[in-house]
Amino acid sequence: MKYLLILTILAFVAAFIYVRVRPYLATARRVLGFVRDARNLAAGAPPRRASRAGETLVRCSTCGTWLPASRAVSRHNPAVVYCSHACLERAAAAREPRRKSAS
Ligand SMILES: [Zn+2]
Repeated sequence: MKYLLILTILAFVAAFIYVRVRPYLATARRVLGFVRDARNLAAGAPPRRASRAGETLVRCSTCGTWLPASRAVSRHNPAVVYCSHACLERAAAAREPRRKSAS
């Protein structure tokens, strides 16, 4: 009977602490999530919702579209990628406008 009383008191204390701490935990989690999002944005990383699990997103150098790295088109420099061959050709044409008209 004595143990039951102690258990009841402990349960009340635990519930009390949980209720008091819960809003702080939610706030802390929201703040942490916000900080993480802000850091990702500052680093130029894509927003989390756009990525499938485990897949890196890269940004098209021409039109700025985010796409999975497996679908990206790159030529010489792997750091410079394009979403499609059309964007690759547009970038090449913009970089060297004379070569196309000369040929
Ligand atoms: Zn593109």
